[in-house]
Amino acid sequence: MSAELELHSRIRTLADAVAAFSDDDRCRRLLEAMVWPRGRLCPACGCHRSISLAGRDTGRRARPGLYQCSDQDCRQQFTVTTRTPLHATKLPLRTWLLALWFILQSDKGVSSIRLAEIIGVSQPTAWRMGHVLRLLVARDHTLGGVIEIDEMYFGGAPRSDPDKPRAGRGRKGQPRTTKTPAMVVVQRPAGSEPGTPAGEARACVVADLSLNETERVLEASVTPQAHLMSDEWKAFVAAGTGFARHDTVCHARKEYARGTVHANAAEGFNNRVRQTIAGVFHHISSQHADLYFHEIGFRWSQRIAAGQKIRKARKGRTILQTLWDRVPPARQLPAVFIMAVGRQIRRTKAGGIDVRSTVAVFG
Ligand SMILES: [Zn+2]
Repeated sequence: MSAELELHSRIRTLADAVAAFSDDDRCRRLLEAMVWPRGRLCPACGCHRSISLAGRDTGRRARPGLYQCSDQDCRQQFTVTTRTPLHATKLPLRTWLLALWFILQSDKGVSSIRLAEIIGVSQPTAWRMGHVLRLLVARDHTLGGVIEIDEMYFGGAPRSDPDKPRAGRGRKGQPRTTKTPAMVVVQRPAGSEPGTPAGEARACVVADLSLNETERVLEASVTPQAHLMSDEWKAFVAAGTGFARHDTVCHARKEYARGTVHANAAEGFNNRVRQTIAGVFHHISSQHADLYFHEIGFRWSQRIAAGQKIRKARKGRTILQTLWDRVPPARQLPAVFIMAVGRQIRRTKAGGIDVRSTVAVFG
């Protein structure tokens, strides 16, 4: 571990963070250690060889942190933020790191209005900072092991047109709700022993819960070797044949768990998404929903099993419940930046954002 990362991992309190992120040069070295954990890489060609231009005459005196690729055909000049969402930022790196640490430190997330107050930037800037975090933590590798799938609905008040059928949960046939459907994919943790990381969790906006949409989401996020768990929704059952194993519970018969066959983790993640939208963001547009889901999924994954406790459930049954510790926010930051290169976010003229990314960030 680099000296920067070593010091960084000791950050616990807000005072620690403010002190650690007070110096821009130190923040740059810390960011370099996080973006390039295996040594400096040219963001244009991936070459491992580059030279520091610091102090050299490149038209004007080159600043610390400016490098040049040694590849004969490339010769790209770059810094640690080149081709990342932090590229061409007018904010100092210390502001970025403190803001990201603060967002991760919060329990469910921070609204842009709160973040603006705390960090001392405008609300639109804080909104973009939040989206930068969401873009950075987007994960696009396929998940294996035991995978629970489920659906959820968010946003939009149910339609109240007397001429139309009453809005329902809207699974079958006509779209009977103005809410937006999303598919949820949650990886069960490999065990409950202390130290085991929580699995990953994804959610993705879908047009509907058809077989086409189900297959599109599963192909992008689950390996064929995975063991699926879901309810008996026909599209889930049909799509499940493409995987090593698929077990279902029958909600229609009020069956929610049969031994290890259940979708309780997916249900838990659904609740987490709903609580976060209601409590932190209040409203998320379906256009940006996948970005919010990336953040909620990342938070879900940044937990470590801490032990188990016996909980009394209804009817005197006892349930063994796994307790989770959160990974300290300072230790989450390297995971935030590990895939930073190639993910870019630009401001649009209308004040919105334009995401340019080599990963499929939007469902
Ligand atoms: Zn290069």
